Amino acid sequence: MTYQQRWDAVMMRNYGTPPIALDHGQGVRVWDTDGHEYLDFVGGIAVSSLGHAHPAIVAAVTEQVGRLVHTSNLAMHEPGLRLAERLVELLALPARVFFANSGAEANECALKIARLHGRAEGRTEIVSCHDSFHGRTLGALSVTGNAAKREPFAPLPGPVTFVDYGDVAALRAAVGPQTAAVIVEPTLGEGGVVVPPVGFLRDVRAICDEAGALLVVDEVQSGIGRTGHWFATQAEGVRPDVVTLAKGLGGGLPIGACLAVGDAGELFGPGDHGSTFGGNPIACAAALAVLTTIADDHLLDNVKRVGEHLAQALGQIDSPLVRGVRGSGLWRAVALSEPRAAEVEAAARGRGLLVNAVKPDALRLAPPLVLTEAEVDDAIPRLVAALEEVAR
Ligand code: PLP
Repeated sequence: MTYQQRWDAVMMRNYGTPPIALDHGQGVRVWDTDGHEYLDFVGGIAVSSLGHAHPAIVAAVTEQVGRLVHTSNLAMHEPGLRLAERLVELLALPARVFFANSGAEANECALKIARLHGRAEGRTEIVSCHDSFHGRTLGALSVTGNAAKREPFAPLPGPVTFVDYGDVAALRAAVGPQTAAVIVEPTLGEGGVVVPPVGFLRDVRAICDEAGALLVVDEVQSGIGRTGHWFATQAEGVRPDVVTLAKGLGGGLPIGACLAVGDAGELFGPGDHGSTFGGNPIACAAALAVLTTIADDHLLDNVKRVGEHLAQALGQIDSPLVRGVRGSGLWRAVALSEPRAAEVEAAARGRGLLVNAVKPDALRLAPPLVLTEAEVDDAIPRLVAALEEVAR
């Protein structure tokens, strides 16, 4: 039996059959089980922030696995404490931290905080955006603005109201005394790396303030350097009430975090929330290594510089299939003039470049934050050739 046949025989069908089986990686490169080498511009979907097999993560995890793997939440531990302190320091706001294992779980925590915030005044509604993505658990799914993903699983928790992303007037009309929280991504990630109009986050903040609603910013994909800032909200000078993180935080180890600022951080009392594995010492040690390396190696500057180089190189591609380039930092989408992103993804893979058809007409690039200009220059001709092959 082939690898794919074995996979199909035992795995649930929720992902379809992945077209590739990866064996190992080093930096921005990965190798499949047949030994083919690829430049990885998917980065585990914006997760492998330091690339593959980074020595800082290898050392941190190796050290921790031999020292203490798990404690449960019945004991404190050094990696968790240091990581929480560091995240609060980086957010530069008085906040409390809850550790989860994933983005969806970080958002579940945020939604429960919103419930408690709204409780006294009977506010139960969450306002979210069409085309947003907040995760697959029932709570996170209930605020995910993709009807095709949501509707098969109705009934979902509610009430939830959706408005168009970036539409300030619609948001103002939707948010009121019934609103417990607004949940928003700084840029739509799964929605296709869609950047909102300038000032949108500031407007959302003002609308939440007027209505007394919490502002939950989902930085699961945008956070921890992806845009060239620790938090995308910081680029806009916006103070969130709740921030959720996951993806790049652990550099590939599973960890999510929910940071609640000021009064929002005081809402949970003992017993209100929990997770057996959340804040596991190994995941926390990996996340600390990620944060330390981003700071020590000046990776935020690298993201800005190499991200601009990438955007310029993508912008110069002359192809009838390319309609434009959007995004920020090392988080870009190539918008296509036809819904042929899956074909381009496959053609690029055939040329040793991994990119992601995030939408039928958009390719997402979310490479490791350690990417170099030389690696961009290596990738672009492969993408150009893939576009030529598909346009032919
Ligand atoms: N929030 C955002 C913005 C995301 O992009 C994702 C995943 O793509 C999630 C939440 C869900 O994260 P996870 O898959 O770790 O549950």
